[in-house]
Amino acid sequence: MVQDTLKKFHEAATSPRKQMEKYLAEGKKVVLTAPVYTPEELIHSMGFVPMGAWGADMELNRSKEYFPAFLCSIVQSILEMGIKGGYKGASAIVIPSLCDTLKTLGENWKYAVEDIKFIPMTYPQNRKPDYGIAFTKAGYERVMRDLEELGGKYDPAALSESIKIYNKHNEVMRKADEMLAAHPEITAAERSDIFKSAFFMTKEEHTALVEEFLAELDKQAAGAEKIGIVVSGILTDAPQLNEIFDEFGMHIVADDVAAQSRQYRTDAPEMDDPLQALAVKFANMDNCSVLYNVKKPRVQWIVDTAKARGAKGVVVVMTKFCDPEEFDYVMIKKACEKADLPLALVEVDRQMVHFEQVRTNLETFRDMLTF
Ligand code: SF4
Repeated sequence: MVQDTLKKFHEAATSPRKQMEKYLAEGKKVVLTAPVYTPEELIHSMGFVPMGAWGADMELNRSKEYFPAFLCSIVQSILEMGIKGGYKGASAIVIPSLCDTLKTLGENWKYAVEDIKFIPMTYPQNRKPDYGIAFTKAGYERVMRDLEELGGKYDPAALSESIKIYNKHNEVMRKADEMLAAHPEITAAERSDIFKSAFFMTKEEHTALVEEFLAELDKQAAGAEKIGIVVSGILTDAPQLNEIFDEFGMHIVADDVAAQSRQYRTDAPEMDDPLQALAVKFANMDNCSVLYNVKKPRVQWIVDTAKARGAKGVVVVMTKFCDPEEFDYVMIKKACEKADLPLALVEVDRQMVHFEQVRTNLETFRDMLTF
């Protein structure tokens, strides 16, 4: 039953701590993976359970001892969770260097959360040339050495196997994104659970659950047409935000969200050297605010995807104080205007309790789209 699998996604998405306890009780070691991209395949191949650490919706207190108030709340809430013991039991956290705010997280983590090892992953700005790929590979080797100190063992054959497992998961998530576009009866909240739960389950378990869900969904008649929108941003998991999408009859027909589809667009190629394949994967990734590309293909990607999926408009969900997303916004706005695609901007953060401004913006947008 579709509803049974949706319930399982919801349980995993809303109880990451329970998921972590389960893996720890099974004798597994958990390694946290901070936004936006980390070499999860490598961590998985070395015998650890990678778990997404994108913070939580919470009040921020202790993190303010380390950060100025104007840093994004995702990073602040990751540190807050770490200080308050929310990630207790994890062996390490891998923090990439993909934005200036993330760079400060690692340095503060070392002092604020001493019981969970900080593993830096330094990525090159120019990731596509050979020297960029070599730099990424050297960064992965550094992660590997740190994981070895925690008892992990590198085996190229195991990494090749993990790459296959992750590529398979990418494939089912892309399929889910496609099928969900044709099923308006699946709510924005349910769609969010499907994506969010992927961070807290092993990829093997999540792939199996998504496949089960898609098989059931395939048998279900599509619900009545709603207002198709494309959502773009870093994180869109706030329950209040998704409730508003649902309340106003908005159907997410595609997303350009860092915590959702951006994770699954690119597979690692099959190569003799699997670590090289992982570095090539990172070089091939694109269409994301934190992945440097002077031509900004992401902007046209949003327009093209919205058109291809028949979306009536685009909603940019801006995480407050997120520089990379703010830089791209003007270009997205201009491209949407040029393509005659209505666009709405709403601002969110992890400390937000009142969503009235978001509600007013989206209500007006709904009225515009249905006028
Ligand atoms: S990309 Fe934006 S939201 Fe993500 S960590 Fe950096 S500043 Fe925060």
